[in-house]
Amino acid sequence: MPLLSALLATALAAPVAWADPPPPKTSAGDPAAEKAYVDALMAKMTLAEKLGQLNQPPGVGNNTGPAAMAGSEDQVRRGEIGSWLGTHGAALTCRLQRIAIEESRLGIPLLFAYDVIHGMRTVFPVPLGEASSFDPDEARNAARVAAVEATAHGVHWTYAPMVDIARDPRWGRIVEGAGEDPYLGSAFAAARVQGFQGEDLAAPDTLLATAKHFVGYGAAEGGRDYNIAEIPERTLREVYLPPFKAAVDAGAQSVMAAFNEISGVPMHAHQPLIEGVLRGDWGWDGLLVSDYTGVLELMEHGVAATREDAGRLGLRAGVDVDMVSNIYLKDLPVAAQAGRVPMAEVDASVRRVLNAKFRLGLFDDPYRYCKDSARQEAMTLTPEHRAAARRMAQKSMVLLKNEGDVLPLSKSLGTLAVIGPLADEPWGMLGNWVGIGRPADAVTPLAALKEALGERTRLVVAKGADIDSADTSGFDKAVRAAREADAVLMFLGEHPEMSAEANNRTSLDLPGVQQQLALAVAATGKPVVVVLLNGRPLSTGALQGRVPAILEAWFPGVEGGNAIVDLLFGDVGPSGKLPVTVPRNVGQVPIYHAHRNTGRPPAKDNKYTSKYIDVPWTPLYPFGHGLGYTTFGYDAPTVSRATLAPNDLAQQVSVRVTNTGQRAGTEVVQLYLRDDVASVTRPVRELRGFRRVELQPGESRTVMFELGFEDLALYDADMRRVVEPGTFTVFAGGSSEAEQSVAFKVVAR
Ligand code: BGC
Repeated sequence: MPLLSALLATALAAPVAWADPPPPKTSAGDPAAEKAYVDALMAKMTLAEKLGQLNQPPGVGNNTGPAAMAGSEDQVRRGEIGSWLGTHGAALTCRLQRIAIEESRLGIPLLFAYDVIHGMRTVFPVPLGEASSFDPDEARNAARVAAVEATAHGVHWTYAPMVDIARDPRWGRIVEGAGEDPYLGSAFAAARVQGFQGEDLAAPDTLLATAKHFVGYGAAEGGRDYNIAEIPERTLREVYLPPFKAAVDAGAQSVMAAFNEISGVPMHAHQPLIEGVLRGDWGWDGLLVSDYTGVLELMEHGVAATREDAGRLGLRAGVDVDMVSNIYLKDLPVAAQAGRVPMAEVDASVRRVLNAKFRLGLFDDPYRYCKDSARQEAMTLTPEHRAAARRMAQKSMVLLKNEGDVLPLSKSLGTLAVIGPLADEPWGMLGNWVGIGRPADAVTPLAALKEALGERTRLVVAKGADIDSADTSGFDKAVRAAREADAVLMFLGEHPEMSAEANNRTSLDLPGVQQQLALAVAATGKPVVVVLLNGRPLSTGALQGRVPAILEAWFPGVEGGNAIVDLLFGDVGPSGKLPVTVPRNVGQVPIYHAHRNTGRPPAKDNKYTSKYIDVPWTPLYPFGHGLGYTTFGYDAPTVSRATLAPNDLAQQVSVRVTNTGQRAGTEVVQLYLRDDVASVTRPVRELRGFRRVELQPGESRTVMFELGFEDLALYDADMRRVVEPGTFTVFAGGSSEAEQSVAFKVVAR
């Protein structure tokens, strides 16, 4: 049928009311019922209606209140929209849904998608901060809270979690992920998927989670967002794919393709990775969405000459939903009519869109997310949600250094100087991608200090400098404030937009003149505590020896100020650990803990070691580092079996940790593994376990870790996943530099 007749047929066909035939109760969760229902629906659909389901136009909402975009409602009536990006709000989504249900021929419900990254209205710490908690349960809860709020605003589908491994802090989007490590990244990927999707996808407070960006987006060459990624198969399998596998295993219903190409093939056309690995090897049956105009961009990549070519390549690769490009809707009908697009490909993608709607229970009740507008009010920024955000923020901050135990501060200081451009900037708490979060909701450090200290302590406040300008005119006032004070708090860091999509930096230093400001203030000789608010690791080496204490607070969310004060005064002890290595300067990038050795001498002072001549070979702060207000001691770990047989690789490692200090505290016990000799080179050590433990002074606890096939396995030269005989060394401690170790052996068959 030519295109025009197809469209006419759609327009003229009699509307199918819900009662004709009555929709079966869909029993979401039952695969046979799903198939039968979707089959029946697809049998009624025209080509145009099918391609409409694959079309996702850009949003109609914004941060201050949703407003409908002219023209789109007619597209809904015509069945040209299957899902909508950036659309939220109970009233708006219900109104649009009603048009889809009552005024389109087939009455197929719409999906509303939104980037709910670290909270909807209650903004949590940025994902990199959350990862610093090494507490996936807390991250699961944060995602749960975000889901409760987002669904109350009519949202069905979030474009989170971002599970891209990032080993280049120049890349602005390092802030959106869980850092450099695939093991930690996998744990957070799974937890956040579970948090968003809950136990029952058809419940009205759960939504589709999207693992993004598939795959290699974090490997952008030079840390330049959107750039090409050169990733050998081994690194892809060992580093970049595992968090996606973990997300899929946790039930992620959606995956987003990445903007980048890998070795000449743009991900939106990457059939081998999407159809081959994701859907084939992993058996994933969810919905794959383009990243924004990713389908159209196949033309800019230079692999498609026309819009139709771009659409054909995208669909063939397995990209189901065309976000924003409008190509599937506009350019594929003709191609499909002419046989240039196999109907089987269209049908497979349509089926996945309808499956998602079925799984959310939208065929049972398309209004289940939006009909209760009281829920939107009741479930937004509740005291419980704020409390969860504060707890997450407390756990996410990393005490990088604390010379002379400057921290915690006493609450009975006479005068406290509060200096820096981020001491009282509400938006500086939130970070990028804040859903419908508002700066006015955020508690700044200054506000929290006033609240916590009351009349007891006099606060002398001086901004000192902007975040990113050359203006030093505020230095004198800041130095005077410091001189008057018993202790100095400095709030330094980045603008939230500096660690974000399309915002990459060639420097990891504090922007502007902030470092000079810190040095000028430190020169007063007063005890100075620097609190960093930022989205990427910052190289603050220049502050070493000048500033005794540095707390990495990341962008900590709406309760950030309160959480910072909780930590600074010791009401809560710092317990976060770095999910990324902090380089001494940008020239050390890439630097990450699980690197493979060279054949050159490992000793740090050997001329022929692989290193630079102008900085020590170690990072400024290693992966997993983070101090508390107490100290912890580790015994050598022990293993349950000195020798493992290849058919029985269960190993139990016991790690005894003791609080050797004077205060209660929480430690993240970390377990690393090294395959000592293998048929291919292996990382110097890999993270294989972690556990938060709270200990009273003098208290000891033995933490048990289980190791199995996946922990010991490697990809051999033929990319087979195998465990090779030989010795393995287990390291246990409080960072990737853990020293206590034990070895065991895997024997040959
Ligand atoms: C980003 C995605 C995001 C999408 C929709 C893109 O620019 O790369 O992460 O989900 O926009 O907002």
